[in-house]
Amino acid sequence: MTSTSPRARPRFVLGGPWRWLLPVLLVLLFLAVLFWLPWQARQMETNERQEQLIADTLWVEQTIRFELSRIEEALAALGAELSEGKLDEAALQARLAQMRKLTHELEQVRWFDPGLRLRASSAAPGAPSPGLPSLRAPAQDAAEMARAGRAGRYAEPYAGAAPGQRLLDYHLPLFRDGAYVGSLVATVDLKVLLDETVPWWFAQDNAISLVDRDDSVLAKRAAAGPGRGVYTHKRALDLAGASVMLATDSVKSEPRLLPNLLVGSVVLLALGLMASLLALWRHIARRLAAEGALRQQMAFRTAMENSLVTGLRARDLEGRVTYVNPAFCEMVGLPPEELLGKSPPMPYWAPEAMAVYQQRFAAVLAGEATQQFETIFQRSDGVRVPVLIFEAPLVDSDGRQTGWMSSILDISDLKRVEELNRQQQEKLQASARLATMGEISSMLAHELNQPLAAIASYTTGALNVLGRARAKGQGVDAGLLQPALEQASLQAQRAGQIIRSVHAFVKKREPQRQQIAVHALVEGILALIELQARKFYVMVETSIAPDLPCVSADRMMLEQVLLNLTRNGIEAMQDIAPGRRLLRIAATCEQGQVCVAVIDQGHGIAPEVAARLFSPFFSTKAEGMGMGLSVCRSAVEFHGGSLKHAANPDGGTIFSFSLPAQAAPLG
Ligand code: ADP
Repeated sequence: MTSTSPRARPRFVLGGPWRWLLPVLLVLLFLAVLFWLPWQARQMETNERQEQLIADTLWVEQTIRFELSRIEEALAALGAELSEGKLDEAALQARLAQMRKLTHELEQVRWFDPGLRLRASSAAPGAPSPGLPSLRAPAQDAAEMARAGRAGRYAEPYAGAAPGQRLLDYHLPLFRDGAYVGSLVATVDLKVLLDETVPWWFAQDNAISLVDRDDSVLAKRAAAGPGRGVYTHKRALDLAGASVMLATDSVKSEPRLLPNLLVGSVVLLALGLMASLLALWRHIARRLAAEGALRQQMAFRTAMENSLVTGLRARDLEGRVTYVNPAFCEMVGLPPEELLGKSPPMPYWAPEAMAVYQQRFAAVLAGEATQQFETIFQRSDGVRVPVLIFEAPLVDSDGRQTGWMSSILDISDLKRVEELNRQQQEKLQASARLATMGEISSMLAHELNQPLAAIASYTTGALNVLGRARAKGQGVDAGLLQPALEQASLQAQRAGQIIRSVHAFVKKREPQRQQIAVHALVEGILALIELQARKFYVMVETSIAPDLPCVSADRMMLEQVLLNLTRNGIEAMQDIAPGRRLLRIAATCEQGQVCVAVIDQGHGIAPEVAARLFSPFFSTKAEGMGMGLSVCRSAVEFHGGSLKHAANPDGGTIFSFSLPAQAAPLG
């Protein structure tokens, strides 16, 4: 297709499956990140909580350790005084009681002699001692080990007297001058220890317990209920001789995902994104389908335009060319670039017809374009191309006229065919003339006999007159000879005219239009008509209206038309009663048309014959060629007239042809 738009530059485009794969992958990646983010946030929150728990547990452990160290230090101070023998019994008792009072978790503080027999206890004197007078086996072991290690040492926790009570002993060996002088044993109630050392805010969030090496709970503090087992931490208290661990279990559950605002918004966003993507996808699919259909349409239109043999040209309202198709370019031999945007005078206008073009273009600008007309274009190589142009207004989708659309047909071939046809017709006419001549020549021989015989008898008569005069020795009487010689001359002229008209009739030549008066035409061939008429004893009558206008025609062709029509009329009357064999040639003028009628009183035309009358080679005669009427009609139409036939009211047929009247009669 030839278009006004510039050719699109080639661009790099993602083709094939990549066109879809890449955005889909990106969207999936985006969604994955969207879902990963809250998960990561949750994970971070979990880690944070866990780390917080560990830090808090560490803190609690430090506090417990600090509290136990305080007890250890207080015991060491007391031990130092005891081993130096500074304290009497009462003072010791007071000190023990004071220690017990100041430190709530201390269940009791006892003093054992080197034989590990109880010497004093923090319990009020007289009150039953919770411990035994001497240490029992495991406690003994601890005391022994402390003594051996010459350092304070804890024993493994054990059950106290109260239900669920667990106690932890701290054994401090006492030495004086390097000799073992007994042990101080501080007994700590682990439950109280927890209650005293663990701050309330920590206990509020966590279940805290002290467990032994078998994980059995020694003491527990769970102010806000049991732990959930999600965030837990266990840490050894690092007590020499006792394996006690601090275990914390948060009451907090895992961070819940869905109520999380972030997750909610992410899910909403993802859903929104998916929905809009789906809508976009559908929209694109619809667009692609529409584009595909459009492309197909365009391809079809282009193929159609390119295969058209009709030239197409669009012009805007100012007459500038806005579109041409390949057929038009080929017709004028110019590429589209040299035509598009051009205003008149156009490069394909032939100089000789410039005035006509200008006139027509002015009419187009005035909005009065001729719908159909013939003109010529000049091809780029100078060859003239006859064209038939159809003009129509170009209307846009709003119904506004935006210009003119023309379809242009190259009618060179048509013209060539017409010319060929014309030549063919001429040849046909010539052959018809020859055929007619064949008949005429036989009649000619017969007809010439008459004038020749007359001439012969007149000249013989004249010769006789001359012979007789010479024999008598008299002069010749001119009065006797003149009529005979005049008659002979007349007859010779008549014979000459017969021969001339046959010669003129047969001669082939190009049609030459001239002003012809009908009476002169008829007179010119009357001799030939009569020649035919005489053969069948037919009377010929002419009635030519006076002051008949001339017609512009080729004399030869009209003569042939008349000869054919008269011959047909004569032949149609050959079986009719001799009294009715009358052929009339009448010429009149009606409405600017000169009408010539050949009227016979013959057998007429049957309907089935009438239907095929003008078909070439149709004849009802044994020796007919069937070309006469066909040739006649072509000849009459060539002169812009028409040939008709009608039944004669007096019997027979009227053949008539009419030609445009030209001017006043000549002569
Ligand atoms: P042809 O005379 O060689 O047959 P034409 O074309 O002149 O060929 O005539 C075709 C036929 O038309 C004739 O054979 C005849 O039957 C019919 N026809 C023509 N003129 C007349 C007429 N005047 N009267 C009756 N029939 C006619």
